[in-house]
Amino acid sequence: MYKIKIILSFIFINGLIMSQNFSFEQSLYYNYEFFKEKTLKDRFFKHSDIIRLIDSLKTKNVFTVKNAGKSFEGRDIFLLSTGTGKKKIFLWSQMHGDEPTATAALFDIFNFFSDNFHYNDVKNLILRNTTIYFMPMVNPDGADYFTRRNSMMIDINRDANRIQTPEAKILMETFDSLKADFGFNLHDQTPRYSAGNSFRQATISFLAPPIDYDKRIDNVRLNSMKLISGLYEMLNKFIPGHISKYSDDYEPRAFGDTFQKKGTSTILVESGGWKNDPEKQFIRKLNFILLLSAFKQIAEDSYKSFDENIYESIPFNEERLYDLILRNLAISKNGLDYKIDIAINYLEIFSKNGYYLKASIENIGDMSTFYGIEDYDFEGYKIDSGKTLLKEFNSIKEIKNLDYSELFEKGYTNIYFDNSKSETSDMPFNILTDKKKIDFAIKIGNNPTFVLKRNGKIEYSIINGFIQNLNTKTFKSNGLVF
Ligand SMILES: [Zn+2]
Repeated sequence: MYKIKIILSFIFINGLIMSQNFSFEQSLYYNYEFFKEKTLKDRFFKHSDIIRLIDSLKTKNVFTVKNAGKSFEGRDIFLLSTGTGKKKIFLWSQMHGDEPTATAALFDIFNFFSDNFHYNDVKNLILRNTTIYFMPMVNPDGADYFTRRNSMMIDINRDANRIQTPEAKILMETFDSLKADFGFNLHDQTPRYSAGNSFRQATISFLAPPIDYDKRIDNVRLNSMKLISGLYEMLNKFIPGHISKYSDDYEPRAFGDTFQKKGTSTILVESGGWKNDPEKQFIRKLNFILLLSAFKQIAEDSYKSFDENIYESIPFNEERLYDLILRNLAISKNGLDYKIDIAINYLEIFSKNGYYLKASIENIGDMSTFYGIEDYDFEGYKIDSGKTLLKEFNSIKEIKNLDYSELFEKGYTNIYFDNSKSETSDMPFNILTDKKKIDFAIKIGNNPTFVLKRNGKIEYSIINGFIQNLNTKTFKSNGLVF
């Protein structure tokens, strides 16, 4: 009976799912795709991409668009605003150029406010009670080069006191002119933080930045804590256990700490990691939901009813994750048999055509206090080194026509071919361009390429840290060229 009631209460309005059983945030969760700015597809959009979108926003009457100044290399930094309310909210994103997740979410939010047909009650509530100022992509030079720092090689978030970068100057002057009630400092963090001592990736981390080394709580900071408590309660329904707190060590050179001290209740939002979401598109959606929820909670003052102890109880980020852990492997060395776990990370190597993953052995031994984002128990398996196929080939195509299963069964992990033009092999094997031996020993920093045997038979090959399953013939084409 209950089920039927829920089904009947769905209404489709212009393609959106609406239901009285949904909260505002649940409804946004289901309808996000409608508002998603589809031209921003991954982490690598550029300043020119947002210029195009801002130009089109200028033609709509929802936002006031102001040129706030220019970056060190002369790229425009914008301030957009909307709303007529007394409470001022200021959001700035991507002061670290390689941290774009929230910028994309801000453009989804611009679409939300530009749409005339949905959520008009909430929109009116927000726009009547607040005025919201957005500075997307504070570091456009860094964004174009996909680097953290600006092109003077200065970390803008360590320039809040000295103000040597034009970007920091623009941010500080804008802040001083607005004197906002709330500030949102939008960043990305490593996907390898866990939420407390757990296997769960920290997907969203919050912080009410401290105002001094003693981490004193004044009324300004208390409001940040209460709002984070409200956001935590809301977001934890979507990603239970994946929310954490960023380190609360005082950093007087950072903007969040400085703005909090200057009287704006500031909230740091860090977009972390989510399994199988390397481009952070799910985390972008969470940013969309949490920021709109924050606007609503500020507009109706509902955040005030949350206990700051909820904030205090959120676990801190911990460094307990590796991308892959292979556990309980038997190994022989110098006549000694012993057991190891191997922790592996995939490093993103940027090249002309985007990036590829280069695996690295990061830790060896007892990894029982760590977790793998992918984590496998290989009890009963023994590590052995792989072999290199030394045969003359005329082309990569010829190599790609080989029977991969047969090669794996014979213990091959690498193929010698001296004429490869690429950095990756596009095959489940490494290509060696030189006959001289590459060191694939099980050592920290080495590339994880080896075979796993059970009862003397190879069942798995690990190629550049990717598991090739010979039993199911499931192969991943992430080999490298050495
Ligand atoms: Zn950052």
